[in-house]
Amino acid sequence: MTKTEIPPDHPRRVSLETREAIIEGHEAHIVATAGLLAHGRGEAFDYLIGETTTDLARNAARAAVAALLSASHPVLSVNGNVCSLVPEELVELSELCRAPLEINLFYYRKEREDAIKDALFAAGAKEVLGTHDRPSMTIPELSSNRRKVDPEGIGSGDVILVPLEDGDRTEALKAIGKFVITIDLNPMSRTAVFSDITIVDNVVRTLPLMTELAREMKELPKEELHRIVESFDNTKNLAMAVEVIIKHLEATAKDIGKIRERKRTGVKKI
Ligand code: ATP
Repeated sequence: MTKTEIPPDHPRRVSLETREAIIEGHEAHIVATAGLLAHGRGEAFDYLIGETTTDLARNAARAAVAALLSASHPVLSVNGNVCSLVPEELVELSELCRAPLEINLFYYRKEREDAIKDALFAAGAKEVLGTHDRPSMTIPELSSNRRKVDPEGIGSGDVILVPLEDGDRTEALKAIGKFVITIDLNPMSRTAVFSDITIVDNVVRTLPLMTELAREMKELPKEELHRIVESFDNTKNLAMAVEVIIKHLEATAKDIGKIRERKRTGVKKI
């Protein structure tokens, strides 16, 4: 339940409710102030793709779930934004894929770590890795707290889901041989480009889709899961995601004329 009531027929209701969830996450110390800005950048890209899960994103999500289900040691990395938007879905995906949840923060504060841990436990998590009271090891080529990973989590993991990650850390994870999956609305971000599988979609749509796919695919034989992962081409996927934006902008350019026409003839704008 959000604090600001948004009318059910508001054309941008989902986007506004998501924004409210991020603001509440910020007030609860889950989301960093910079996380609000990152969310704004995401909103802009969501607008550009049409605020919908494209077939491309669905296909990438299928490859991502196949990679998680067929991994020896998959891990789900959690930051403040993703925790505030989809905590229950993270816990469910973690259970379905037997992938532990690990807190990993760009802007570390113990208060934030505690708030995220509490939110994950409240959402049903039984274990949360990456907290300050656990052992830690470091990944090379990164500074400060971002170096620290949990030896039972990302440290020994083979397939890592890093939703809304920054480019440096994605590159560092690749440099130490991890298979990296990301969810990022910007198909041009460094994270999108460096990852093995990039789902260009909003986490609020992708996480529920991934849990649904994981339920459907969890009995598939390993060879079939490997085949799905191997047939996925991220470079092609990202190029096509940029094409989706171009096509959506072209269609919008035509629609703008229609909106002007409606205004002129007094038809109420929707
Ligand atoms: P990089 O370092 O990878 O080039 P960046 O500097 O743009 O990326 P950040 O600001 O660290 O990245 O992270 C924000 C990224 O997350 C942006 O690419 C933004 O589009 C994306 N993002 C924000 N909110 C969401 C969301 N709800 N779902 C999916 N992606 C999102």
